[in-house]
Amino acid sequence: MRPKLTRLWPNYLQDVAVVALNKKSIDIAPGGLNWREPHWVAAKLKLDRSVPAVSEHFRGGTAEAQKAFTQFCADLLRDYKDTRNQPQTDNVSQMSKYLHFGQISPVWLALEVRKYARAGATNIESFVDELLVRRELSMNWVEFTDHYESYESMPEWSRKTLAEHARDTRPYLYSRAQLENAKTHDPYWNAAMNEMRFTGYMHNHMRMYWGKKILEWTSSPEEGHATALAINNKFFLDGRDANSFANIAWVFGQHDRPWFERPIFRKVRYMNAAGLERKCDIKGYVAKVNARIAQYRA
Ligand SMILES: Cc1cc2nc3c(=O)[nH]c(=O)nc-3n(C[C@H](O)[C@H](O)[C@H](O)COP(=O)(O)OP(=O)(O)OC[C@H]3O[C@@H](n4cnc5c(N)ncnc54)[C@H](O)[C@@H]3O)c2cc1C
Repeated sequence: MRPKLTRLWPNYLQDVAVVALNKKSIDIAPGGLNWREPHWVAAKLKLDRSVPAVSEHFRGGTAEAQKAFTQFCADLLRDYKDTRNQPQTDNVSQMSKYLHFGQISPVWLALEVRKYARAGATNIESFVDELLVRRELSMNWVEFTDHYESYESMPEWSRKTLAEHARDTRPYLYSRAQLENAKTHDPYWNAAMNEMRFTGYMHNHMRMYWGKKILEWTSSPEEGHATALAINNKFFLDGRDANSFANIAWVFGQHDRPWFERPIFRKVRYMNAAGLERKCDIKGYVAKVNARIAQYRA
């Protein structure tokens, strides 16, 4: 897929022309709503108010997105390839939420990142690979998959293999409430869930571990899929995106290949706490999340 996509990039990675607006969207007020008073509008909506506000951590808007991205390119991009999977660091762009709400353009990001040649070609390529290959793969899958939100859209090989082990004894089983409230036996998973709950964000590497454990700790793959998707879309600022559906599907085998046989997962890729301890400073990650949340609650 990569060579096919990269061949097309020169046609698409062009500065986007600025078009004058005929009418500002803020001036269109259906039903008499006053969009200039967002709190007033929000008060009228039926919303799940158990999800805490996270504006202490992230601020919205195109100017904020551009500022954060410029800082990322100047300070962090030079280490991106080696450290993007190290959750104890913050060496990532934080762009997904701005992309989700249309506050930044992927074309602008791809053109801008190439201006930082001093950060090294491998780091730039690695970033563009996430932004244009992985992200477009999700967009494409959602565009062309009926019922991408349902477990039935997982690949046939993974549904078959998971069904064969659906009755395997699960060492731990948690309800959705226990999961949402980070009440499991696993301190690494609980830290990830707290990062999601209190900041609206979770580091990519921990999202993979988080999803795999929900598959392991729920009574069936169908329940695991529905639970992971619901929690993902409830708390993440970048939730309800094509990336949400495609990446939860990845947990259950989509865009992956069969691995070794093991209980519960059978041939679907497995992740465990020992892997986190081997590959990154997972205790540093827990400390980072705890410090961030303490600051938030102070
Ligand atoms: C279980 C699970 C759930 C996820 N849920 C979401 C979600 O709800 N919304 C969402 O936008 N992303 C989701 N992701 C993908 C990824 O974790 C986030 O896009 C990334 O962590 C956002 O941080 P960033 O912008 O700093 O990423 P960077 O590392 O700075 O990457 C730059 C951009 O590349 C794209 N990108 C990076 N990683 C991926 C990936 N694995 N798949 C597709 N595109 C990627 C994103 O647009 C991202 O903003 C999920 C991943 C997993 C494993």
